[in-house]
Amino acid sequence: MSRRATRHESNRGAPAWAVLLLLVLACSSIFPSPARALEAHDYKMAGDAVRMRVVINFDSEPEPRWFLLRAPHRLVIDLPTTKFAIDPSELKARGLIRNVRYGQINGKTSRLMLEAKGPFVIDKLDILPNEASPGFRMVADLSAASQGAFEEALAVQAATTGSTETTPKSERLGLRTGREGQRFTIVIDPGHGGIDGGAAGPGGTVEKDITLTFAAELRDKLRADGRYNVFMTREKDDFLRLDDRVRIAREHEADLFISIHADTIRLKGIRGATVYTVSEKASDAEAQALADRENLSDQLAGIAVEEEDQQVADILIDLIKRETHSFSMRFARSLVGELSTTVGLINNPHRFAGFKVLKAPDVPSVLVELGYLSNAKDEEQLKNADWRAKAATSISKAIELFATSTGSAGG
Ligand code: ZN
Repeated sequence: MSRRATRHESNRGAPAWAVLLLLVLACSSIFPSPARALEAHDYKMAGDAVRMRVVINFDSEPEPRWFLLRAPHRLVIDLPTTKFAIDPSELKARGLIRNVRYGQINGKTSRLMLEAKGPFVIDKLDILPNEASPGFRMVADLSAASQGAFEEALAVQAATTGSTETTPKSERLGLRTGREGQRFTIVIDPGHGGIDGGAAGPGGTVEKDITLTFAAELRDKLRADGRYNVFMTREKDDFLRLDDRVRIAREHEADLFISIHADTIRLKGIRGATVYTVSEKASDAEAQALADRENLSDQLAGIAVEEEDQQVADILIDLIKRETHSFSMRFARSLVGELSTTVGLINNPHRFAGFKVLKAPDVPSVLVELGYLSNAKDEEQLKNADWRAKAATSISKAIELFATSTGSAGG
């Protein structure tokens, strides 16, 4: 724009028709004729920190060229000169996407740039004709992935020099590629944190503290074993969204995700360790109530919780979930078996409900209630380092069995 303004200045002495012609030329390049202009409108993002769908509508068929950039992790979509009619409120940071920008980068190219919270892969990027209205839409599905998967996608794009081709199937959902020789990886998730304290016991024990203490002890025990990579979703008293906990598990290509809790339940007499896996239908009313309370964690921090985008859940994800689910079940059963030899268990110690934090599509996940802070005896045990060491040993044994049976341990 500033360049054009300068051109007008320098032509001040020219005849009126020449100025008029220049103005027409200048205007026509700012607002190209409708036949050649591309107009982008109705930008929408939906999803969470694990999976996002971005949809943008065009008045005519766009031919985008897209590619990834690292540091920070970005998806860049280049289009011919495009007029963007985008509601700025739609561009606010959401889920996996931290920042969206767009603009003209040169005389014939416009660029849309999405910056993610961490490494990701493109599951799909399609241009589709609209069914109910004129025009086309671009649909991009992104999912959180490891740095390795992101680097592989970068390498693929370098080889294909950028196109609208869908990411090769092996990279969809960040499926593990080149995992041979990689050590079994465990992500431990200390429940709650920061503004979300979780439950509190009659003796004043706060859940977010006891989960962090135990998680660190378990991590140290597993690291000392030497066969595993072990990470925690938080190392400090930080608040973390539930979907960010899942994203971190995917970032580390976790083979197993263990969320540690010590909640309260309505009946104070009830005590003992419990292992939960995810299910749409809860095993019992207590499990349902617990999942409902856990899922409120995000709201404590004033985060608007969006309904899950059903469109994002496609058949592929269902298939992977089914396999992941059977692994989660297998680990939960072996965990119950190990815990039963060292610490007290609740009746029916393997329960299930719709915990958001257990919804990674490709990471076997369990939530362990070490005990219940609503029970004074459980609270005493949780404060006892010897008791915690026994519980950590049981969990380590269950992990060893699981890692061996999936053939990933060793090294
Ligand atoms: Zn909890």
